[in-house]
Amino acid sequence: MKTRPASSVRVRFAPSPTGHLHVGGARTALFNWLYARHHGGVFILRIEDTDRSRSTDENIAAILEAFEWLGLSWDEGPPTPGYRQTERMELYREHAQRLVASGRAYYCDCPPEALERERQAAQRRGETFRYSGRCRDRGLRAGALRLRMPDQGATAVNDLIHGPVTFEHRQLDDWILVRTDGTPTYNFSNVVDDVTMRITHVIRGNDHLSNTPKQLLCYEALGYPVPEFAHVSMILGPDRSRLSKRHGATSVQAFRDAGIPADAMVNYLARLGWSHGDQEIFSRAELIELFDIKDVAASAAIFDRTKLEWLSQEHMKQMDGARLAELALPFFARAGLPVPRDQAWLARVVDTLKERAKTLVELVEVGRFYVERPPEYEEKAAQKLFTAEGARRLDVLIERLGSLPDFTAESLERAYRELTEALGLKLVDLAQLSRLAVTGRTASPPIFEVLALLGREETLARLGAARAGIGSSR
Ligand code: GLU
Repeated sequence: MKTRPASSVRVRFAPSPTGHLHVGGARTALFNWLYARHHGGVFILRIEDTDRSRSTDENIAAILEAFEWLGLSWDEGPPTPGYRQTERMELYREHAQRLVASGRAYYCDCPPEALERERQAAQRRGETFRYSGRCRDRGLRAGALRLRMPDQGATAVNDLIHGPVTFEHRQLDDWILVRTDGTPTYNFSNVVDDVTMRITHVIRGNDHLSNTPKQLLCYEALGYPVPEFAHVSMILGPDRSRLSKRHGATSVQAFRDAGIPADAMVNYLARLGWSHGDQEIFSRAELIELFDIKDVAASAAIFDRTKLEWLSQEHMKQMDGARLAELALPFFARAGLPVPRDQAWLARVVDTLKERAKTLVELVEVGRFYVERPPEYEEKAAQKLFTAEGARRLDVLIERLGSLPDFTAESLERAYRELTEALGLKLVDLAQLSRLAVTGRTASPPIFEVLALLGREETLARLGAARAGIGSSR
């Protein structure tokens, strides 16, 4: 059962489903979510799908999936009907009619070609095109519906991030609310949705800042109170141009597939523009507790993959084995490896790997030997260690490990130390030989833990296979 929100904060994220959820959108969504959760308010997901040619159900599904992965739960939104703009056409029509009735909007039948000629002429003069207002007082009953804007004065947007930003009315024109074909424009449907959904704070990308004065005048024309606005800066690539595919992966799903844990992604996205002292690592609960829109920077944030991966590792290191095992599990299948069935065993396995991997993909890569016998051995090391002398040492090891009363890391270490001494060797000699035989590599987590986790039977099988390989080739 849902508890009643303790505050009246109502925020929304309103993606246009024309593609996947981009990191910039995800960060905007996160700031809305954190703001709602911090204030005990309501977070709404609204799908702005009026651009029917580019909005698809697949994109909506992908966006919802990205939200679920990030753990950004919404209180209102799909699948409940009424949160897609295409389901809200009647509301836009009603509000348009109100503006017509009050004389705040008027119809315009200027042919698109004529407007286009004017636009081009303005462009040639180096000016921004503004509709002339030709149809303002013609009393037409059909056509495109335009909002009558004041000719003089100015509108100030009191942005929570940027402070007051003033727009002169003479720079704004009588913009189109509803097109001739009856479809509402983005700026109009967005206002109608925000008022009817009783949104208190509009937190969105600052590419929408320039739309805000037009929208404020539309609220005013409709007689609605205006919400607060906060325009979040853009995210740039390392070359300071707007983050795009050129800079690598930008969709949220791509980071999930690259094995970044969701908590680390959320931590990273929050730090793109928001800060709290010089703290870098935040749990979700801390973010909710500490987040304040006023601490969001007005300047652009630069996307830094290295830092994201650093955070990813830090989060993995802090996770308990059982949780990390749960997250790592799907990555075994994806790497084409057998999927470990024993969760408790896997929890111990991943504990040995988390210092050695920045992502879940790397974690599985460095730990693949736990579930797969080495398909080959590092060549140089094999030449050095898999010698006649190596074969003798493996024989001794196999015999000794076969008769150990128990197969724990401690008893293995003891046995190795005793053997080393008896043979007049250094511990590393037997350790490297064993490591190469059981993992195929010269670097791995601590060898005695590895052997204990593999268990006696598997360890002996692998030492035996390495030994047999030497026997046949030398
Ligand atoms: N659909 C708009 C976008 O994706 C939302 C703008 C807003 O949040 O007001 O950019």
